[in-house]
Amino acid sequence: MKAVVVLVVTWTVLVPQILTRAQAAADRDSRVSVSYVPPKDPAHRAIYEQLGQLRFLEKLQRLLTPFRLPRALLVKLEGCDGDANAFYESNVITVCYEYIDQLWKTMPAQTTAAGVTPADAIVGPLFDTCLHEFAHALFELLRVPVLGREEDAADQVSAYIMLHLGKAEARRLIGGVAYAYKTEADAATAPPTMTQFADVHGTPAQRFYNVLCIAYGADKQLFGDLVEKGYLPKKRAEDCKDEYRQVAYAYEKLIGPHIDRGRAKKMFDKSWLPTQRYRCRAGPARRNRNDALIRDQTAGSLASRSGRSAFRNIRAKWLGYASACFSKVCHVA
Ligand SMILES: [Zn+2]
Repeated sequence: MKAVVVLVVTWTVLVPQILTRAQAAADRDSRVSVSYVPPKDPAHRAIYEQLGQLRFLEKLQRLLTPFRLPRALLVKLEGCDGDANAFYESNVITVCYEYIDQLWKTMPAQTTAAGVTPADAIVGPLFDTCLHEFAHALFELLRVPVLGREEDAADQVSAYIMLHLGKAEARRLIGGVAYAYKTEADAATAPPTMTQFADVHGTPAQRFYNVLCIAYGADKQLFGDLVEKGYLPKKRAEDCKDEYRQVAYAYEKLIGPHIDRGRAKKMFDKSWLPTQRYRCRAGPARRNRNDALIRDQTAGSLASRSGRSAFRNIRAKWLGYASACFSKVCHVA
């Protein structure tokens, strides 16, 4: 699995040279621009460099080209003075390096019993967060009326978009998002206080069930095991199809007219995530180097690595791997 890393870096560096004219034109037409703001905290340098090198934001930008926006929108990665957050304000989406750093710290060492890979645990919530903030932007820029809490609506729009990517990708992204919420819910060491329920967002546990419900409501076959294995209670599952339909109706009615359907089909039908097993097109020397990376990973958990630089190095490589989920550099082994 780790063998993908080096190849990914190679591929992404070559991206500008292999962009087709159509892609380049689509990017020029996009009203979404992107920016990697150099981090103030040196600890975020590796994240900044890797994501920039891997053109993470450019891939997101391309995915958003079908949306016709009346004004320009900037998506940027930036340090937020210790705040692990993301937000939308005045035509700007900001995703904090601290938030991405937090995803690293909660990433599982190996694929979970529920089938969430380490990469999914980062790409899922990172992707979801970007789309959640994009939903806030859509509400404002398109003057979309929202019934209910805007944070819930933004979660729903994000999930709806993810569910319209390929089935395998939707499954993995939703799994990653659910993992992040579950981890956050499990991390609570004390019962929630009354005021925590006053937050504009749902609690992590509520958001966990909400995302599972809309996924199950969208596709009972693809997400059927969520109920069978007890992740989503049967009682809630009974109404998920209706919940999904409600979201679909609102999205298609209010946001649908602002989507270039032809371009959306091209973009959404693209395979954004690699398959679960990888085979690199690298030569022997590169494989040897990758084997060393695999040993690094299996020798112990990230936390047990001696030396902060070693930790950062491996973490940065995983970051590269996770970002590879937006590329097509690997194929089924
Ligand atoms: Zn929000």
